[in-house]
Amino acid sequence: MRRNSFGLPQTQRGKVFRNSRYGNSGGQRPKRQGQYINPERFVNKAVAVVEEVKYVPEHRFSDFGFLPALQQNINSKGYEHPTPVQDGAIKPAMAGRDVIGLANTGTGKTAAFTLPIIHRLKSGATDGTVLIMAPTRELAVQIDEEFRGFARGLGVFSALCVGGANIARQISQLQRRPHVVIGTPGRLKDLFNQRALRLDRTGIVVLDEADRMLDMGFIKDIRFILDQLPEQRQSLCFSATITPEISRLLDVMLKDPVTISVRNGETSDHVEQDVIQASNKEEKLEILVDLLKKDGFEKVLVFGQTKWSVQRLSDTLVKRGIKSVAIHGNKSQPQRQKALKAFKDGQAAVMVATDVAARGLDIPNVSHVINFDQPTTYDDYVHRIGRTGRAGNRGQALTFVSA
Ligand code: AMP
Repeated sequence: MRRNSFGLPQTQRGKVFRNSRYGNSGGQRPKRQGQYINPERFVNKAVAVVEEVKYVPEHRFSDFGFLPALQQNINSKGYEHPTPVQDGAIKPAMAGRDVIGLANTGTGKTAAFTLPIIHRLKSGATDGTVLIMAPTRELAVQIDEEFRGFARGLGVFSALCVGGANIARQISQLQRRPHVVIGTPGRLKDLFNQRALRLDRTGIVVLDEADRMLDMGFIKDIRFILDQLPEQRQSLCFSATITPEISRLLDVMLKDPVTISVRNGETSDHVEQDVIQASNKEEKLEILVDLLKKDGFEKVLVFGQTKWSVQRLSDTLVKRGIKSVAIHGNKSQPQRQKALKAFKDGQAAVMVATDVAARGLDIPNVSHVINFDQPTTYDDYVHRIGRTGRAGNRGQALTFVSA
């Protein structure tokens, strides 16, 4: 039997599917919810011969003219050169322009908006407050952490307002009038309705991962919140994709925006991608366990379809002697944070996740992404595999398909 580079049963690209049930020549497509994705799109072995072209930024951080204390915090974070989205977005955002950033996760977009915001708040360029909306609690927590790191010692404060966490504490945080409020749209709307959050003094609004927020059904909450904001404001919007719905939202939200596009191609070219054939669930599990015990599979993100199946898979892996944690929407916020920390710190070698829970998470050095269950859309696939191969590292992604 032919084996792929991971030592697993596999047939050649192209050959695999022509005669299989996935093929284009009359074979029946498997019944799945969501979009049909040709499994050939899960294979990309070209990475071995592709040489990475190093991006040369137009600016250095010192060119932007940040306030010295902010520049110092940037230096102490160890950031030397701006990433492409930072290179393009920081200047116009500092100048007060509206910005559309077309960027995937992991491209440094958080600093692309937090740095100009802190600079504008501190230099008196805006006397309004800042509202940052993100699709998930985890992403909001990450933004808050990054914000706090850059704002250290500058007297600029933030409040984190996410669902699943104690609302009374958030209300008391808001009473202290933070400069920046970071949260998920549903909770922000609740807080506004309870008169705990004022929106009429917002000077800058940010939508992060706008496409994800719309996917998750937040459009009504977002529109409601935008309706409460003053006309005179700066708006920054980041999204990996522009769908017609996003386009309509941008039309009403932004004025004369500058667009920065740094999306990588349709698939992440630096991620080696392959499929694994398995005939049934039991076989899938056995192959997965074998893989996870191999050398090199040291930080593996496994994607499953439902909250329940993700938890069950992680529990099974633990029983089989693999250090695994699960992250999904049925877990409380502290449980999710704990799992994420264990995975980030390397105490758990495996994290099993649903798409929603893993959205936007920044986890450095993921060695492999394994799609135990196939994603619903190709866009989700690109998002999933984008978790590996970051910062110029080569990543590997494997997707289970029916044998
Ligand atoms: P983000 O896309 O904002 O989630 O950022 C992805 C990761 O890249 C985070 O761990 C950031 O701390 C890191 N990062 C962002 N900008 C830079 C930079 N200019 N230099 C080095 N690391 C960066």
